Amino acid sequence: MRATRTCAVALAVLTAVAVAAVIGVATVPLAAQVAAERAAFEAETLKHFQALVQLDTSSPPGNEHRVVDYLKQVFDAEAIPYQVFAKDPQRPNLVVRLKGSGRQRPVLMLGHTDVVTVDPTKWTFPPFAARRDGGYVYGRGTVDDKDNLVAALMTVLSLARSRTPLDRDVILLAEAGEEGAPHVGAQFMIDEHFAAIDAEFCLAEGGSIKRQGGRVVQANVGTTEKEPRPIEIIARGPAGHGSVPTKTNALAHLSTAVDRVVAWVPPLRLNETTGSYFRMLSTMAPPDKARRYRDILSLDPKVARAADDWLAVNEPSHWSMLHTSLTPTMISGGFRYNVIPSEAKVTLDVRLHPDEDQSTFLDEVRKVLADPSLEVRWARDRYRPAGGSPLGTAAFTAIGAQVKKHYDVPVLPTMGTGATDMAQIRSKGVHCYGLGPAVDEEDGPKGFGAHSDQERILESELHRFARFLQDVVRELAVAPTR
Ligand SMILES: [Zn+2]
Repeated sequence: MRATRTCAVALAVLTAVAVAAVIGVATVPLAAQVAAERAAFEAETLKHFQALVQLDTSSPPGNEHRVVDYLKQVFDAEAIPYQVFAKDPQRPNLVVRLKGSGRQRPVLMLGHTDVVTVDPTKWTFPPFAARRDGGYVYGRGTVDDKDNLVAALMTVLSLARSRTPLDRDVILLAEAGEEGAPHVGAQFMIDEHFAAIDAEFCLAEGGSIKRQGGRVVQANVGTTEKEPRPIEIIARGPAGHGSVPTKTNALAHLSTAVDRVVAWVPPLRLNETTGSYFRMLSTMAPPDKARRYRDILSLDPKVARAADDWLAVNEPSHWSMLHTSLTPTMISGGFRYNVIPSEAKVTLDVRLHPDEDQSTFLDEVRKVLADPSLEVRWARDRYRPAGGSPLGTAAFTAIGAQVKKHYDVPVLPTMGTGATDMAQIRSKGVHCYGLGPAVDEEDGPKGFGAHSDQERILESELHRFARFLQDVVRELAVAPTR
C-alpha cells in the first residue's frame, strides 16, 4: 500500500468521523486504516533512510554517485523524472522537479548526500551499518544530512503519488560536496545550473528542534549565518642562536599580537534575526537568564555590555551570534630549539557577522595590533557570501504554523555561527530557512551529535520531521481548492 495517501485518508477519516457521529456508526476500521497508512509511510521512510546511511559517502572522496544511483532507481520505479549534474562524475548532484501551475515561484528542498569522514575504531556500531538500537538509528549522516535528504525524498514521493495540484514547482536538490567541496555541489550548481534550482524559497539543514530532558522546547530555524574567513598574522625578525636572547624574536613578537587580538571585543551587533531570537528567548528562559537576554537588547550600552560580558563567559555560542569572532587555532614557527626563527604565524578562525564590512575589517584588526611590522592578511578569498532571509515571508509563516502543529513550541529565528550551503543559495536571492529534526540537547556533549563518533537520531523524531517537512511544503505549494 502506498503510504502517501495519508493526508487524503486523514481527511476522509475526519469526514467519516463526523458522519459516523451523526449516524452512530463505529469508526474503528477507518482509524485502523489511518494507522496502517502511517505505519507504511514510516516503514518506507526508515527503509530509505537506512539504505542511504549505509552508502559510504564520506568526503573526501565523497562518492556521492552511490546516493544518486540509489535515488535514480527509486524515481525510475515511480516514473518521476530527474536530472543529474556533475562536475566530477563521482560526485554528481540530482535534481527532481514536480511541476506546479507556475502561479508562484518554486520551493527548493536541499539535502546533501556527502558526510564527514569517520574513525571506525571509535564507533560502537559500524558507522555505515545504520544499526537500530533503543529507538535510535546510529550511523554517519543520521543527523547530517541524510535526515533532511530522506524527508525531502518522502515529500517528493508523497506529492507525486497523490498527484496533488501545485501552485509552484517543488524541487529537490540532492547535493554533493557540502562537507568542504562546494565546487562540485552548491557552488557548481549556482554557477552553472542555477536555472535548475532557482526558487523563491529554499528549505535546508541549519536548524533544529531542541529537546531538553526528553521534551521539545523550541524550534530553531536558521535564517542567517556567519561567514568563515580566516586571517593570518605573521611576525618576522632576524634569525639567530637561541643562546642569545633578542628583542626582535619573531615568536615573542607574535605572542604579543595574539594577546592583543584575543583581548579585543569587536562591536556588538544585532540584526532582525538575533533581535527576534533574544527577545523570544527572554520570554522563555528562567528569570536570571531572561534578564541577560533582555539586557542584550538594551539601548543603554553599559547594560548591553554587562550582559554581553556575561554571555562571553557563560554562553559563548550566544556571544558569537552577536559579534564577529576571532579565534586563534594554529600557530607555527621555529624548527629546532636552539634557533631563533625568522618567522612565526598565527591563523585566526574569523567568523564574520553577516553585517560586517569586510573591506574595512582587516584595517580594524591592524589598528588593534598597532604594529606595522606585522603582516596581517586574509588567509583565503571570500567564498561564502553573507546574507540572511527575512522573517515576514510565506515560507517562514508556513514553518511557524507547522511547528505549532507538529511540535507546539515557539519558533526562534537563528543565526548559525557555523556555515551551510544556504549562504551560496541565498546569494542568488533565494530565501533559505534551516530546519532539522528534534535532537536532545544532552546528546551533543555525550558525543552523539553531527560529525561525532556515534552520530544518531531518534526514529520517532525522524518520522515526525518527515511529516513536518512534507506539511511545510504542502502548505507552501499545494494549490488551494478554488
Ligand atoms: Zn550538513
